[in-house]
Amino acid sequence: MRQSRLFTKTRREAPRDELAKNAQLLIRAGYVHKEMAGVYSYLPLGRRVLENIEKVIRREMDAISGQEIRMATLHPSEPWKQSGGWDNVDVLFKIESRTEKEYALGQSEEEIVTPIAGEYAPSYKDLPLALYQIGQKYRDELRAKSGVLRGREFTMKDMYSFHTSQEDFDAYYEVVKEAYIKIFAECGLVAKVTEASGGSFSEKISYEFMVLTDAGEDTIVYCETCNYCSNVEVTNAKEGDPCPKDGSALKQGIASEVGNVFDLGQKYPKALGFTYKDEEGNDQYPIMGCYGMGITRLMGVVVEALADEKGIVWPESIAPFALHLVNAMPNDSEAVQYADELYDYLTARGTAVLYDDRDVRAGEKFADSDLLGIPNRLVVGKEALAGNSLELVNRATGEVERYTREELFQRYGT
Ligand code: ATP
Ligand code: MG
Repeated sequence: MRQSRLFTKTRREAPRDELAKNAQLLIRAGYVHKEMAGVYSYLPLGRRVLENIEKVIRREMDAISGQEIRMATLHPSEPWKQSGGWDNVDVLFKIESRTEKEYALGQSEEEIVTPIAGEYAPSYKDLPLALYQIGQKYRDELRAKSGVLRGREFTMKDMYSFHTSQEDFDAYYEVVKEAYIKIFAECGLVAKVTEASGGSFSEKISYEFMVLTDAGEDTIVYCETCNYCSNVEVTNAKEGDPCPKDGSALKQGIASEVGNVFDLGQKYPKALGFTYKDEEGNDQYPIMGCYGMGITRLMGVVVEALADEKGIVWPESIAPFALHLVNAMPNDSEAVQYADELYDYLTARGTAVLYDDRDVRAGEKFADSDLLGIPNRLVVGKEALAGNSLELVNRATGEVERYTREELFQRYGT
């Protein structure tokens, strides 16, 4: 895309009321537009990042037999009343229509997915079944001060699975856990997995996936020599205590929960009447699990975790563009022709290039480029025109690699 046509522009200042680094940078760079506290619109650059995160998630969910659907977000109130959520979920947005009908906005979708699954899975032969979606969620959150990390509207991947036995569920639970860790790693993050909350045997297991960042709202203790990690809300452990697994001194840190998985047992199938016939023809309730992942939060956590003093730094996997092609001499017709040719060649071969063809000082272009955080910057300047190799600057490390045009075409052009 030509940057001269990109309708968003970078800004020097973020709105005064925006305190979170993720939102300040995303707004200044033109990725998001703030509508009100906790509600953002995603502009071309931001939408591309979300789409890339979604691609990674889809691939992994499909690989573990998840079937993607798109559920309604405007919900009838009846299933919410049947499950008890209508009166007990404090973040549920409730709507009354002009004909005095009641509705809820989806904050999670157990109430919708359970009847859907029940309708299509009448027999043990139809199970296990895992359904997922990527979509908007609405929550009447009291605090919305963490930028895109805590929205009143946000994007989530939510998956729900149904099983005929606890063993089958437990096995799948581990599979999902591995898929989650893979997704976070691919997004450039290290996620720590908190142990089962509570710890009593009667309590259902849940895992929270935590990424260390000062912008988070959770405090965790973790072990640096093994994978032990626990949320301080549920554990008594604190900094310096011995790790229950290997005895080394625990560390304490602030983290953001980028995902979690729950064993829901038979609560929703019972409340909403989902039974299947077992091998003997008897009615049974399936065991249900739910698996959430905050997509917009993930984007914000990546900004928080990887940004430097100059701006955002995207990992290649989710960056809005692979290359930032910067013409440092926009008034030189030879440079324009050279950069145009590079742009045409690379885009024709499928490389996502943002091409800064604007008539702006080179220094300003570089500052903007640092703020935008595209992983590699390719500069067309005097050297390139003199027939020397091109500079490819790595945004994260600042390292410079030199490429001839041919070498560059080999790296990006195939
Ligand atoms: P939190 O403790 O942060 O409120 P939660 O326990 O309410 O999270 P879930 O209801 O299980 O989380 O939602 C699944 C995932 O969706 C969370 O792990 C998080 O990544 C994301 N998420 C939850 N609430 C929000 C929000 N208000 N804004 C953005 N992402 C959210
Ligand atoms: Mg919450």
